Amino acid sequence: MLKKNEVIALEITGMTSEGNGVGRHEGIAVFVPLTAVGDKITCKIVKTEKSYCYGIIEEIKEAAPCRTPADCEVYRQCGGCCFRHFGYEEELRIKDNIVRDAFRRIGGIDTEFEEILGCESRDGYRNKAQYPVADKDGQAVCGFFAKRSHRIIPYTDCRLQPPIFREITDFIISYINENKIPAYNEQTGKGSVRHIYLRRGYHSGEIMVCIVSAKNISGEIKPLCNLLTEKFPDIKSIVVNLNPAKTNVILGERIINLYGDGYIRDIMCKNKIRLSPLSFYQVNTPQAERLYAIAKEYANLDGGERIMDLYCGTGTIGLSMADKAGSLIGVEIIPEAVRDARFNAAENGISNAEFICDSAGKAARKLSERGELPDVITVDPPRKGCDEETVAALLKMAPKRIVMISCNPATCARDVKLLCESGIYRTVKARAVDMFPGTGHVETAVLLSKLN
Ligand code: SAH
Repeated sequence: MLKKNEVIALEITGMTSEGNGVGRHEGIAVFVPLTAVGDKITCKIVKTEKSYCYGIIEEIKEAAPCRTPADCEVYRQCGGCCFRHFGYEEELRIKDNIVRDAFRRIGGIDTEFEEILGCESRDGYRNKAQYPVADKDGQAVCGFFAKRSHRIIPYTDCRLQPPIFREITDFIISYINENKIPAYNEQTGKGSVRHIYLRRGYHSGEIMVCIVSAKNISGEIKPLCNLLTEKFPDIKSIVVNLNPAKTNVILGERIINLYGDGYIRDIMCKNKIRLSPLSFYQVNTPQAERLYAIAKEYANLDGGERIMDLYCGTGTIGLSMADKAGSLIGVEIIPEAVRDARFNAAENGISNAEFICDSAGKAARKLSERGELPDVITVDPPRKGCDEETVAALLKMAPKRIVMISCNPATCARDVKLLCESGIYRTVKARAVDMFPGTGHVETAVLLSKLN
């Protein structure tokens, strides 16, 4: 049995989705951060559990061929990226394995996998940033949370964001410091500014600035609007989001509009899209367009099908298929996103679409009771996956095809397993899609087809 502080020789043979390399020592799995598959190291054991341990690198004896120097100054401290110390090919190989492995181990599913779809660009792909703000010796600072902590490391030059986000954020921080608008203090609940939240339409270039604050600071922020829009003409919307609660949740419910219409516009799969601050929107637009194209290919529409899009957000997936469908019903729980979805349908002249604001499970059950029998259903749930009610309603409506998109391979494999165990569906094919280079996240697309 390994002991704390023991130093052992280890070869790294696998990688977890948190970015820890893993090797085996006398049958025990040892997880070591910042290693790569193929590394031969000596490592010091820092934590032991019954069937596994954690170690840290003591010395790299032989570096894996895929290793590259990490191209970010704060890579070790930041909790955002975990795959930056080797090449992109290796990152894709690992992500592809994570998805296939989840299907095998959790789903017990043996299906055809298409090759993982990588991104064209590994940097600058995010259309959204949420920088935490905190007080440091009476000054507001802004950056990111250190790994597994709420300590802010002041650093706004993240490679995953477009460079203009840094300029805007630094400008806002200078303004709030000059005007003595206090940062929020998580411990005491005093102060105001909690987060700077930015969004930028990938195709339109339009930028939204949202300042998340515990107090209504719209009066103090108002003069900033002119300064910001003069310096950054692409800013089309400035809002304050009020979040007075003692919580880790970034956004509150109330939006106070200071400049513009309260939303920005973008293009997604050739459709014009309106985006409000509280609506979900995929963070990597060109890759989301490729993912939705795969969903459309899997849906295999011939023009007359009734389609249903569960967990539809602003409607982007369903709307991208509407030209090939007879009718579309979208379901989404956030009212603001549903408003955006309806607006987006109208704006693009799509008249065969209806959007319902409800939980996917409840709406799907009601729709199945109403006798709605869609031919194809797309589901794109949040990380926790579909709830039981949704799975039950899917089985009751029993469409010819189900296209599942998921940001969590584990819950995706679980839900696919439930659908297949019913004896009503089989998995036809699946594909991992990398939407979030550098990070441990990976998206999955799956096609299920009704048996006979
Ligand atoms: N398909 C959209 C959104 C996917 S994200 C897109 O690609 O842009 C998941 C969406 O599910 C979010 O918009 C979230 O608000 C919504 N959601 C979360 N829980 C839900 C539930 N129980 N019922 C319906 N929608 C839900």
